[in-house]
Amino acid sequence: MRLELDVAKCVRAKSKLSLCTCCAEASPEHISIVENIPTFKNQTGIEAAAAVGACPCEALGLSGIVLSRFFFDFLDAKSDTLVPSKELPCLSLLSVEHLLSLVLALEQNLKINIESYDRDSVQLQQILKRVDEVNQILGAVSAKKIEMIQEHLEDKSEPVDKDEGGSRRDFLTNLSLKGALKQKKRFEESLEADELSQHLLESDDIAKLKEQHIPEKRKILFSVLKYSDLFKNSAAIKSEKISFISDKVVNDSCTNCQMCYRLCPSGALSSDGRFSLINFDAMLCLKCRLCHDVCEVDAITMSPHFDLGEFGKHHQETLIRFDIKRCDECGNSFTYRGGEMLCPRCKVEEEEAASLHEKSGIIF
Ligand code: SF4
Ligand code: SF4
Ligand code: SF4
Repeated sequence: MRLELDVAKCVRAKSKLSLCTCCAEASPEHISIVENIPTFKNQTGIEAAAAVGACPCEALGLSGIVLSRFFFDFLDAKSDTLVPSKELPCLSLLSVEHLLSLVLALEQNLKINIESYDRDSVQLQQILKRVDEVNQILGAVSAKKIEMIQEHLEDKSEPVDKDEGGSRRDFLTNLSLKGALKQKKRFEESLEADELSQHLLESDDIAKLKEQHIPEKRKILFSVLKYSDLFKNSAAIKSEKISFISDKVVNDSCTNCQMCYRLCPSGALSSDGRFSLINFDAMLCLKCRLCHDVCEVDAITMSPHFDLGEFGKHHQETLIRFDIKRCDECGNSFTYRGGEMLCPRCKVEEEEAASLHEKSGIIF
C-alpha cells in the first residue's frame, strides 16, 4: 500500500504560482514541497493517509484503496459505525466531503470509532478536525452529527503489545492503523530508506493538465445531496469554517488576463467563447485557491460567508462582464477599459515608438 501522486491533478503542477500545502500540512513528516511539487519517500504509505483526505483535487491516493467503492460498500453493509478495516486502514483517508456524504446518506447519526489511534497522532488530529467541520456544517441546519467512540483512546505514541486473542480493541488495533504500520515497518526494512519519489510530468500528464475534472468525492456529495432536504434554506457559514468549497467575488481591478478560469481545475470558473465574462459555479469549487494564487492583481477574492442553502444547487453566477472590442490598430479582440481603442500590445508598441522618437529628438 503506497502513497501515489497523480501529478496532472495537482494544482502545483498546473501552475508554479500555486501555494497549495494541504497535503504537506496534513502529513508534515512525510510530505514536503520540493521544486514546487509534493515529494515523499518511495515507500511512503499508510502513515501519510491524512494527506490523501486533505488533497482538494484527489491528486493523492493509496494504492489498492478506492474511496468511492468503500463509500458505497459501507452503505450497502447497513452499518452506522466507521472503524479502521482492511478496506479503509486509516479513517484519515476520508475527506470532509466523504464524511459529510456518509452522514447525509444515513438516517441515523454516523459513529466513528477512533479507539485504535494514538491520542497525539497526526491522523487522529486530522480526523477530529474534519469531524468538527462536518458537525459545524450539520449543526447550522439540523440536529444530525457525527458521534465519536473514543472510550479507550490511547495516550502513548508507541503501540502497546497485548496478549494474543485479547479484547475487541486489540482486534481493531491489529487490523487497522497500528497493524498496518507494523507490517509496513517490516517492509521498509527491506527497502532503500531515503529514496525520494520522482514526480516528473510525462507527455500524457502535460495533456491532462489542461483537463478539468470533478473529484469522485464531489460527485458522491452531489448524489447524496439530491436526496437530502437539510440544505433547503439559506444558512450562512463563515468561509474559514468550511474547507472544501467557497464563494467568489471579482472586483473591477480584474484585467481579464484569463488565468483563473483557464487554470481552475474543476471548471468552477469559466468564460464564454469571446472571453467576455467570468462565470462561477460554487458547487464545483474545490477551494484549491489556485485562482487566488495566479491573480496578479488580487481581483478574485473569497466571499466571507458560504451559503449552505447553495449545496447541491448548480447554478452559474456571472461574477464580472467585460467590454470586448476590436483594436483599431491590429483588429484583434481585447478587453476595453476606456480611452483609445487599442489592445494592450499595440498600446505598448505605440508608447515604445513615442519614447524612441523622443530620445532621438525627432519631432513629428
Ligand atoms: S494537496 Fe493535492 S493539489 Fe495540493 S499540493 Fe498536495 S497533491 Fe497537490
Ligand atoms: S480575476 Fe485575476 S486571474 Fe482572473 S481574469 Fe481577472 S485578473 Fe486574471
Ligand atoms: S474557483 Fe478557484 S478555488 Fe475554486 S476550484 Fe477553481 S481555482 Fe480552485
